[in-house]
Amino acid sequence: MKIKFAARSVLAGFTLATLMALPITAQAEENDLTNATLWTQTSVEFKATALAAYKLAEVMLDRGLADKNWTAAIEQEGDYQNKPAAVILDVDETVLDNTAYEAWLIKAKTGYSSKTWAPFVMGATSKPIAGSKEFIDYARSKGVEIFYVSNRKAPEEEGTVKNLKDLGYYVNEEFDTVLLRGEKEEWGSDKTTRRAHVAKDYRVVMIVGDNLGDFVEARDATLAERDALIDTYKDYWSSKWITIANPMYGSWEAATFGYDFKLPNEEKRQMKLDSMTYWDPKE
Ligand SMILES: [Mg+2]
Repeated sequence: MKIKFAARSVLAGFTLATLMALPITAQAEENDLTNATLWTQTSVEFKATALAAYKLAEVMLDRGLADKNWTAAIEQEGDYQNKPAAVILDVDETVLDNTAYEAWLIKAKTGYSSKTWAPFVMGATSKPIAGSKEFIDYARSKGVEIFYVSNRKAPEEEGTVKNLKDLGYYVNEEFDTVLLRGEKEEWGSDKTTRRAHVAKDYRVVMIVGDNLGDFVEARDATLAERDALIDTYKDYWSSKWITIANPMYGSWEAATFGYDFKLPNEEKRQMKLDSMTYWDPKE
């Protein structure tokens, strides 16, 4: 597969011979997660990007609070105008930074598994995403309720809440606002039912997430269908829906290999390579 990769001239200026001459470790450890994790974990550019998103979220929150007809949830129904305001935030890579887990995957030469993810979550060692706590505190200062809607599994609530509280994040003590996958039978990985659950009693002023499914369900959507959602929801993006960059994983990646997680890694990687548009120097 690396030969195919080189033959496509993706590595501009690299001949196959150059590639073969690279230190063996560099080739053997080629991992799609490396640059993505490095950027997210170490770069000031990622931090600044997250800070920008959360600063924008503050501005838009004020706008949304001032306009009673404003709602960020497409599940919002009925007379919602006078309901109390709420914000829905995803957790992973939106509020909590799990780059240490991703870095460990690279080091251990393995892929995501719920068997290793669960103890990582229960260890409650994730770091804050820049700007997220400040935004939540800002929303609280305006009397806005905070709901965390995450696809962490129900048994992982203790570790999740501990991690959030240890970092000083607001978590409601009166009733459950950490809504995890499987807590109720109808709460699957599709977050629609949980957004509807919040929208029943609150006007959802804003949603913050790193994955398309945090905002709208687009199960099995192709890259083109996903792309079309930018237009469909043009009034939502960057005003009601605030996105945090996640180059490490997400439905954007799965869409390239048809969400077929069981495919061999080599095959998935080839489908990812085939999803890109290439410069042809001969044209
Ligand atoms: Mg996430």
